[in-house]
Amino acid sequence: MKVRVRFAPSPTGPLHIGGLRTALFNYLFAKKHQGAFVLRVEDTDQSRLVEGAEQYIQDALSWLGIPPDESPAHKGGHGPYRQSERRAIYEEHAMRLVQEGKAYYAFDSTEQLDALRKEAEAKGEKFIYNHNNRDGLHNSLQLSSEETSRLLEEKHPFVIRFKSPADRQLQLDDLIRGRIVIDSNLLDDKILFKSDGFPTYHLANVVDDHLMEISHVIRGEEWLPSLALHYLLYEAFEWEAPQFAHLPLLLKPQGKGKLSKRDGEKGGFPVFPLSWGESTGFKESGYLSNATLNFLALLGWNEGVEQEIYSLDELKQRFDIDRVNKSGARFDVEKLKWFNHHYIQQASNASLAATLQNTQAALSAADLESLEHFVGLVKERESFIADIYTHNTYFFESPSSYDPKALKKQIKEDTPALLAGLAAKLQALEDFKSAGLSDCLASYCEEKNIGLGRVMAPVRLSLVGALKGPSIYEIMAFIGKESSIQRIDNLIQHTS
Ligand code: GLU
Repeated sequence: MKVRVRFAPSPTGPLHIGGLRTALFNYLFAKKHQGAFVLRVEDTDQSRLVEGAEQYIQDALSWLGIPPDESPAHKGGHGPYRQSERRAIYEEHAMRLVQEGKAYYAFDSTEQLDALRKEAEAKGEKFIYNHNNRDGLHNSLQLSSEETSRLLEEKHPFVIRFKSPADRQLQLDDLIRGRIVIDSNLLDDKILFKSDGFPTYHLANVVDDHLMEISHVIRGEEWLPSLALHYLLYEAFEWEAPQFAHLPLLLKPQGKGKLSKRDGEKGGFPVFPLSWGESTGFKESGYLSNATLNFLALLGWNEGVEQEIYSLDELKQRFDIDRVNKSGARFDVEKLKWFNHHYIQQASNASLAATLQNTQAALSAADLESLEHFVGLVKERESFIADIYTHNTYFFESPSSYDPKALKKQIKEDTPALLAGLAAKLQALEDFKSAGLSDCLASYCEEKNIGLGRVMAPVRLSLVGALKGPSIYEIMAFIGKESSIQRIDNLIQHTS
């Protein structure tokens, strides 16, 4: 049997990062088994459709580097891939179940059902539309066929409900959770089809998974409660059910409770892969796609070994659904930053320099070769591409202030004079390169019979504005003789 999996989002807004993790696990499973990864757009709930959401989904998958083999944009032999274009198929299947006595028309109005719900609540019970009470309700199981036909002809609003069986212990299998047993008496007669001509999620999802020859349904844990009904639908249609795997929830960074959009707002991290309206995405926040992918792959899956760094190719070979955990996966933003730091170190200086040139207005005219050199000097300390520039702007402009604590500690009475002497020596230096600069400073301190630090720290302060950054000799060589001496003079003026 060929492995075919699908990612089936509803385009009701931007894809949540948890949705992207579901897509990734489907993709990896498909690739591991030389199967197909299908993107099916579940857009039957017309009232919740959001303009641009479908495109967003496709863009997010492309950004992560996990393009579908079949999708609305990339057709295969199992389309259409948008449920709104498959309405006739669902209607035909709903009718088939009605004709076979496995589903029925229900004409109960919302008011009638609300009243029944309230009545049950008043008695401390829960109203469930099923075998317990369907005989007394307004549906085609009770009405004569003439009466049912008349209501349908008169366009009386109706829904088609599934006739859920009584007294059965349903044995459901999940690849991650094992066997789950459900008492069918707890199930209600779920709505499959509405009189507006649209199916509900359950009918459309099962019919499509069958017709699209989906072998494994891998989806979020929030769909576990639908599993019993889906099993019953496969049985009613006399189809073989696919295998199911329900992925663990993504938990808040603190570890308790489901990750929500608000957690991102509170914790200052994105929850959407790409920006959407006011919300900044992972991409725009400076997370690299390979870092995000590596991080997502380990949210709920591990090989049981120390390894944490995985390339996409490795994941395609090693991902195994049997090693997906049941328990929720903590969304640890610090870990994500750690991955980002790692992948920034892996990225070539040339590509980082090109990105900086394109994204930082102040660098748009900078020389690429020297940008590349700059990146090589500072990236070791950085976890975000933008920070490579924003944390190290002193490579391009004089510091606008000095760290007051450092000033107090490092500037002694004789410092301005010492700096002035050094500036004169630097002026005379012909070859303004790192090694020569280092020798120059060392011999100057020897002449003056002082420790290197007496001069080095003030020089750093003059160049950077704080006691941080890479080697001062590299900084001086980068900014050149004129700027270096100018910055030293600036500090002399500031302190004398
Ligand atoms: N349309 C559902 C969603 O939005 C699909 C659930 C499933 O994968 O069965 O997640």
